[in-house]
Amino acid sequence: MAVGDPPIPESADVVVVGGGSCGSVLAGRLSEDPSRRVILVESGPGHRIPSEFPPELVDAGVLPVGPDSQWVWPYPVELTSGRSGWIARGRVLGGSGAVNGGYFVRAQVDDFAHWPASWSFDDVLPFFTRIESDADFSGPWHGTDGPIPVHREPRDRWHPISAAFSDVARAAGHPEDPDKNAPGSHGVGPVPLNIRDGVRVGPASAYLLPNLDRPNLTVRSGATVTRVIFSGDRVVGVEVATDSGLRTIRSSTVVLTAGAVATPHLLMLSGLGDSRHLEGLEIPVVADLPAVGSEFSDHPEVVLPYRYRRAVSRTTQTPALQVTLNTDDIEMRPYTASFGDLIPGSGIGQPCLGVVLMKPRSRGEIRLVSADPGDAPSVSYRYLEAGQDREALRSAVTHASDLMRSGAMAELLEPEEIDTSDAWLSDHLGTSLHLSGSCRMGSDATTSVVDERCRVHGVDGLFIVDTSIFPALPSRGPHATAVMVAERASTFF
Ligand SMILES: Cc1cc2nc3c(=O)[nH]c(=O)nc-3n(C[C@H](O)[C@H](O)[C@H](O)COP(=O)(O)OP(=O)(O)OC[C@H]3O[C@@H](n4cnc5c(N)ncnc54)[C@H](O)[C@@H]3O)c2cc1C
Repeated sequence: MAVGDPPIPESADVVVVGGGSCGSVLAGRLSEDPSRRVILVESGPGHRIPSEFPPELVDAGVLPVGPDSQWVWPYPVELTSGRSGWIARGRVLGGSGAVNGGYFVRAQVDDFAHWPASWSFDDVLPFFTRIESDADFSGPWHGTDGPIPVHREPRDRWHPISAAFSDVARAAGHPEDPDKNAPGSHGVGPVPLNIRDGVRVGPASAYLLPNLDRPNLTVRSGATVTRVIFSGDRVVGVEVATDSGLRTIRSSTVVLTAGAVATPHLLMLSGLGDSRHLEGLEIPVVADLPAVGSEFSDHPEVVLPYRYRRAVSRTTQTPALQVTLNTDDIEMRPYTASFGDLIPGSGIGQPCLGVVLMKPRSRGEIRLVSADPGDAPSVSYRYLEAGQDREALRSAVTHASDLMRSGAMAELLEPEEIDTSDAWLSDHLGTSLHLSGSCRMGSDATTSVVDERCRVHGVDGLFIVDTSIFPALPSRGPHATAVMVAERASTFF
């Protein structure tokens, strides 16, 4: 039986729009109060019990987001001037957290210096610990009884590339980093993973599926919210497209958890955004919020291809990443397989080392191309526009290339020639799919979209809880931080 089966109720106390990483946490937590009627509306398909999950949503060593995937929204994007491409976001119950790489690393203490004062590291630490059951560490920084299992792969299970990379990084003077979820973490070490027995355990599996029998929780998949409905500046519900036509759900509280692309898209379609942009498309303006879709960031990734000198083997249970090197603003990722193997259908056959800028200065923009909800918005990354970003990547690529040509790495593989010209960087450029900050949190309605308690400025009853509200991109992958934000936001209602 699919989760999409229940009929859509006509009203609810809270409507959660998008059953991804944050939506799953929020609906799970908010429905703990039996007197609160919660509806979660998810656009993609849903599965009720783990045995119904197709293998590609189970095996943590595969990211089912290739061109033929039925589990994603594909968005055409411009990465940098003259470089077009497309990005995938999860479109299935569990969202991007159901198709991602299983890397579950917290934002660092310093990252929160760019967040509002009430989101300091001390404020958020209890929520980081609440979400996890860490199999390797306990004590003040860690949780041991949360819904998401976290572990690091022991060295005897490392792929040859993980071991060789770790060895040469340490030989080059980088410190060992045994716990990347500890404050001050830097150096080379094992990646915390939200994977158990080779199975990705995302927020839907951890927070939602165990609670589907709650009478006050309706989880409806295969239904797409097309508009938030207002009476004046007060939310009164949402419009939902289903196989059987358009429906309305009445509610005075709507929480957008549609992700960092779909949330600003939905806001603009509903009349919240830069008023000149909306008026140009003849969309009636509900609130003039110029920061909607503006100044987002993501981690640009340059890939350094190589070929192995000998055959190496891997199973689909091997996570994409077992080890990373983190310096102040760079992360190096020795992937355990080529993108072609990790992302079926992507066609990128050569293995590669990823070199990622974790504190980029360049900012992107999401804009409507039409007022039709069926038209994907334009997503312009503007990667490498800032000269400091190009310089930081140039120097990191040079260092990565040196590591690949030394010690155990040189014995294992033969790198392709690199040159660090702008053209070479642009040719080898991709994105980490960590898009954040497209509806930033802050106090000023001209530069931010939600306040410190996730309320959208200028209207009543509308909230956003997903990575779009990050005031600054974390210097680590965003997933653990997204789950923390949803855990904390669930206490605001
Ligand atoms: C392929 C991939 C790999 C990644 N790997 C990692 C990793 O290993 N580690 C890491 O830290 N981060 C990773 N990320 C990023 C991380 O997974 C995301 O940042 C995080 O899951 C985002 O959570 P979210 O709740 O903001 O959005 P999502 O999880 O994307 O959820 C949004 C949900 O809303 C639904 N939705 C959208 N619009 C509507 C609508 N109009 N009506 C109804 N439903 C709607 C979508 O279908 C989706 O289910 C990866 C991302 C991708 C795409």
